[in-house]
Amino acid sequence: MEPAETGRRSYAMTPDEFRRQGHEVVEWVARYMERVEDLPVVSSVEPGEVRALLPEHPPERPERWEDILADVDRVVLPGVTHWQSPNFFAYFQANASGPSILGELLASGLGVQGMLWATSPACTEIESLVLDWLVELLDLPDRFRSTGAGGGVIQDGASGATLCALLAARERVGGAAALGRLVAYASTEAHSSVVKGARVAGLGEDQLRLIGTDPTSRAMDADALADAMADDAAAGRVPFFVCATVGTTSSHAIDPVAAIAPLAEHHRAWLHVDSAHAGAAAVCPDLRFVNVGLDRADSYCVDPHKWLFTNLECDAFYVADRRPLLAALSVLPEYLRNPASESGAVTDYRDWHLPLGRRFRALKLWFVLRHYGAEGLRHHVGQHVAWAQELADWVEDDPRFELAAPVPLNLVCFRHVGGDAANQRLLEGLNASGRLFLTHARLDDRLTLRLSIGQTTTERRHVEAAWQHISELAGPA
Ligand SMILES: *Cc1c(COP(=O)(O)O)cnc(C)c1O
Repeated sequence: MEPAETGRRSYAMTPDEFRRQGHEVVEWVARYMERVEDLPVVSSVEPGEVRALLPEHPPERPERWEDILADVDRVVLPGVTHWQSPNFFAYFQANASGPSILGELLASGLGVQGMLWATSPACTEIESLVLDWLVELLDLPDRFRSTGAGGGVIQDGASGATLCALLAARERVGGAAALGRLVAYASTEAHSSVVKGARVAGLGEDQLRLIGTDPTSRAMDADALADAMADDAAAGRVPFFVCATVGTTSSHAIDPVAAIAPLAEHHRAWLHVDSAHAGAAAVCPDLRFVNVGLDRADSYCVDPHKWLFTNLECDAFYVADRRPLLAALSVLPEYLRNPASESGAVTDYRDWHLPLGRRFRALKLWFVLRHYGAEGLRHHVGQHVAWAQELADWVEDDPRFELAAPVPLNLVCFRHVGGDAANQRLLEGLNASGRLFLTHARLDDRLTLRLSIGQTTTERRHVEAAWQHISELAGPA
């Protein structure tokens, strides 16, 4: 609509226009859900191809909605890799789901900025509540509940959570003043975000020790950690932070948290458990081995945006004691002072992470938990794990393939016995087919295919079809 022609005084979209276009967009998304299964999973556009389809300059005149939406089909879709395809088995999933998308829509509609309790009490209180619900659903230790000394907060991702854990740990040993003597530990298989977080927290490269792993399980070698911490302490350095990973990104290895915890305690180091992907498994009582040792962790994170049907960004980050976190991150300028904060009776989540402004991210998680219920979450997560176990059996029964790592949950790491070149060809062939998407890792210095089963709408038939396709393309041993 062009105000000059219509005589309108405003360019704003009226509620009525919003209603009309909004219905169309919802319809578009619903149709996308219906057809995404049949779209080639991986986008095949060349670098620059998307941009080349669009004008180099922004529009001077308002554009028509039908033209804007038409460009979503013409320009955007071909350049999208379909993370929401049930044939997406790459990396770890980035789940979306109906209730989550609607929660995001409502959060956008309300458009609140929940930096302080006072700037929208519901934003804070629902967040604290759903994170307490998640403690119950995942059977996490009570010390992470907001009703005690600890509590949870929604972070943008596990990377941000790990950085905040590092900053809280640093604060607990005296803050930046002690920086030069601090040493942090994680395994060689830990996520790259630990390395990044350590860098951002001001640690030099020699202040993060990457501890070796067991050759079979790829879990952190707790004895090697004990030695490294003892050596550092003896040399006058301060072991201050240990990151244990439950479900590493390459192979889903599970660090022995119960053996690591007493070492951290002995040195008064902060224990952070990064369970970004695997933590969601704990919705199933029989998979709660992922929580072993957690009752002694200072902090913990899990990404509902990976494997709990909730859109990015939604990482649940918990601390057993919120004081060091708040001490590290609270800065109170005059313009944010308010009676509720000063009363001490409320939570101001701006002090729990780096950004000040925050969306109403709890809405989507709240909707997901209510839509699925505990039984729905158990049903889907449990199925993903069961199908991964089936796939692992198929791999083992095929002489052309071998499992490259144990399969405790829903990630299957396997390779063709024909060597790196054969696996590279297979991976490229599979992904070029458009019928599925897998990614790789290097395990034992050999190219390994990773197949993660965790997309919201994946069914057993998709896993079967994936294996059939792999099998066909693999050729003889
Ligand atoms: C995916 C992943 C991360 C990073 O998660 P983001 O939420 O994308 O920041 C960290 N650790 C592990 C083990 C992961 O699998």
